[in-house]
Amino acid sequence: MVKKVILNRSGTDKIRSLNPWIYHNEIKKVSGVVEKGDVVYLYSPEGELLGTGYINPESKISVRVLAFFKKVNPDMDFVKDRVSRAFTKRIKILDRSDAIRIVHSEADGLPGLIVDMYGKYLSIQVNTAGMERLREYVIDALVKILDPEGIIERSDERSREKEGLQTENKIIYGKVPESIIINENNVRFYVHLEKGQKTGFYLDQRINRYIVSNYIKKGDQVLDLFSNSGGFGIYAGVKGAGDITFVDISRNVKPLIEKNCELNNIKRYTIYRENVFKFLTKVSRTEKKYDLIVLDPPSFAKNKHEAKDALRGFKFLVSKSLEILREGGLLAVFSCSYHISMEDLKKITLDVSKNLKYSLEIVKHLFQDEDHPYLLNIPASLYLKGLLIRKNEN
Ligand code: SAH
Repeated sequence: MVKKVILNRSGTDKIRSLNPWIYHNEIKKVSGVVEKGDVVYLYSPEGELLGTGYINPESKISVRVLAFFKKVNPDMDFVKDRVSRAFTKRIKILDRSDAIRIVHSEADGLPGLIVDMYGKYLSIQVNTAGMERLREYVIDALVKILDPEGIIERSDERSREKEGLQTENKIIYGKVPESIIINENNVRFYVHLEKGQKTGFYLDQRINRYIVSNYIKKGDQVLDLFSNSGGFGIYAGVKGAGDITFVDISRNVKPLIEKNCELNNIKRYTIYRENVFKFLTKVSRTEKKYDLIVLDPPSFAKNKHEAKDALRGFKFLVSKSLEILREGGLLAVFSCSYHISMEDLKKITLDVSKNLKYSLEIVKHLFQDEDHPYLLNIPASLYLKGLLIRKNEN
């Protein structure tokens, strides 16, 4: 028997605006005892059916919605249908890349599930107790629809902890090599499926790597800050940059950047394993100038309380970067935290421009690539945004 959850006014209003996350204090009554991961039907205080979800009393987000205003049975057919819709929607992206996100959690109607395709292999994250219950269906659906040679699980530690689940990191189907080569817009990358960050590669930046690289002129001096395995810098090299400097604090990325440079026939580059904040302080004391600088930091603000410090961090990064940018040069700055908005990025840039006495031009507004969908009813689904800024000559 599927249990009933009656929401209070605020929870009901949330569902009416198609918000799929219900918090503990938005629940009025639960009929009977529920265990984490149980499927529940949601009702308004007046008894109107609001949808189907799964519940986790241990998690901050108590209920995640699977379907609005109807009863669904999340069985094999349900999961297959959702995966297949998510895949069909993305088929055209395969023309540009053989590595794409196939399932993006709530945005594909499968809350708690991430599926990334890297050529013949899949890397998945099962991040909630509710999705954990559907694990067998998910694997079965992925095998039937995508026919991969292997599936690796790279579930996210932090999310699973919040749900009271153990961390998983293992091959769960077929065979998966340690690393593979992917082709994105004719730029090739090694991806470490077992040890790479996230599920292996930052797929959400694909469109931005492409857009930014279109501004490269032969011989440009490029600085790729928070480079990870070199995404932006490698694209720049393929487009003819003269020299590329990669900076990242992680000890794992240097061998990957070296391999990626070799793979794409890039000869002139330097890699610094360093804190970007320190690196920028150092370089700003020299005469060195760059034609393109990319700032792609990790999420400095995981919640709204951290946003203030994050803004201060951004201000420093943008201001130092603009100092070492040649006149006429370009800065691409990104925030992958929902709590730092596009407007915040603009405000920081404007403040900095006053100090530097430079008029800055917004050349482009940048967003996550479309295999990471932005649903209007889920504001947090627009998490990655960026600005391409030109430092005009004074
Ligand atoms: N631009 C990359 C993705 C960047 S992810 C791409 O297109 O693939 C953010 C990176 O910042 C991670 O690789 C992480 O190791 C690095 N990082 C985090 N804090 C840092 C710091 N203070 N200094 C330098 N690198 C840092």
